[in-house]
Amino acid sequence: MAHVVFVGLGFGGLYALRKFLDDRPEGVRVTAIDRRDRFVFTPLLYEYLAGELDPDVVAPRLETLVPEGEAEVVRGEVSAVDVRAREVRLAGGRTIGFDVLVLAPGSVPAFHGVKGAEQHGLPFYSFEDAERLRTTLRVRAWAGGTQPACVVGGGVVGIELAFALSELLGREGGGGEQVVVLEALGDILGGMSDGLRKMAWSKLRDAGIRVRTDVRVLEVDDLGVTFREGGKTERFDAAVVAWTAGIQPSPLLRNLPAEWHGRHGVRVERTLQLPGYPYVFVLGDAISYPGRAVGSPIPDTAQAALQQADVCAANVRDWLTTGLAQREYRLNHQGDFLRVSRGAAIADVRGVVLDGLAAALARRAAYVVRLPDWAVRTTAIRQWLGPGPEEREEERGEERRAA
Ligand SMILES: Cc1cc2nc3c(=O)[nH]c(=O)nc-3n(C[C@H](O)[C@H](O)[C@H](O)COP(=O)(O)OP(=O)(O)OC[C@H]3O[C@@H](n4cnc5c(N)ncnc54)[C@H](O)[C@@H]3O)c2cc1C
Repeated sequence: MAHVVFVGLGFGGLYALRKFLDDRPEGVRVTAIDRRDRFVFTPLLYEYLAGELDPDVVAPRLETLVPEGEAEVVRGEVSAVDVRAREVRLAGGRTIGFDVLVLAPGSVPAFHGVKGAEQHGLPFYSFEDAERLRTTLRVRAWAGGTQPACVVGGGVVGIELAFALSELLGREGGGGEQVVVLEALGDILGGMSDGLRKMAWSKLRDAGIRVRTDVRVLEVDDLGVTFREGGKTERFDAAVVAWTAGIQPSPLLRNLPAEWHGRHGVRVERTLQLPGYPYVFVLGDAISYPGRAVGSPIPDTAQAALQQADVCAANVRDWLTTGLAQREYRLNHQGDFLRVSRGAAIADVRGVVLDGLAAALARRAAYVVRLPDWAVRTTAIRQWLGPGPEEREEERGEERRAA
């Protein structure tokens, strides 16, 4: 019986798995491995941070997303992949053999060797990161702290996080500068259109978020951040230093016999097969340039990973049934969204830039259809239409008092 193993159940791996299980060939056994017990819909992590959506929407449990009895779901850390021996090794020592491997381990934060960044900076990538950030900010509020939150990195994640933090800290009261963004380059939102970037600058100013560009962060410590700007070294105390200054592909890829493109991951064929190892499919943030010619790397986005998941599931099925995988992946960029607050966003859909409520609704609609199933979708809609975070917090407080 052929055995297909999926490693990493994020946007690439989970959606490929579910698609594959929808039309699984006869007599195929499936094992799916992830170190976590939740799938994280990262574009909605800000809604979790801001108290707008609950964990079961933003990070539903994997057991609810993989049809029962269809696959063995293993929770564990894969420590090594041996594509020649066709086996993956788990941290506890267990070895799992495969006939076909689907590898989608995503990215990890990149700290660029900045002193103290890994120890004291809080990355914003996983559900646990969002929880840690929420807890840190609550402690600040209880202690009556007034220091600003610092976000290192002015890419999409950094800017959306800055808006979410400003919303959250604004709700808790306290004037002054609540959020400061430090960006190494001369501008924010690299890779986004000029229209979206211009709109974002104006919203950042409206929200009172200070953005400092051309800044080199030198050190993060437990009280704040030290940086160099215009030849001068400065430091300020911060309630939290959120680290969003880049990602790098999972270290799990390092030992693959593959062409590796630095921070862009490994090269695969357009069919997502690893060159020389057609029974290994790699997708998501883990890959760089699909195809023979090296062009622009494909972006590290959920959008790209979801499109690859469809191609991957069809190719795995074809590979198992005919020995040929022929569908090719090509990026189809559909647009960009930037959350500003509960009722406002910026959207760039094929060159048309919108803002305000229209953009917020377009963003929600785009994400709702991509949520993994109807149960999660209806809960998201209910929570979006229901009371806001403050009222929900009050209701929870009353429930706690009554209990
Ligand atoms: C805050 C945030 C917001 C984002 N917003 C957007 C957005 O709005 N639009 C967009 O298109 N993209 C967005 N992205 C990017 C998007 O999340 C990634 O590009 C996407 O998740 C990549 O999918 P993936 O399957 O490669 O990796 P992931 O979705 O990260 O999944 C990887 C999985 O592999 C597991 N794993 C990793 N290593 C191991 C191991 N050794 N053993 C076992 N399991 C392992 C992880 O636990 C994880 O479940 C955002 C990212 C962040 C952090």
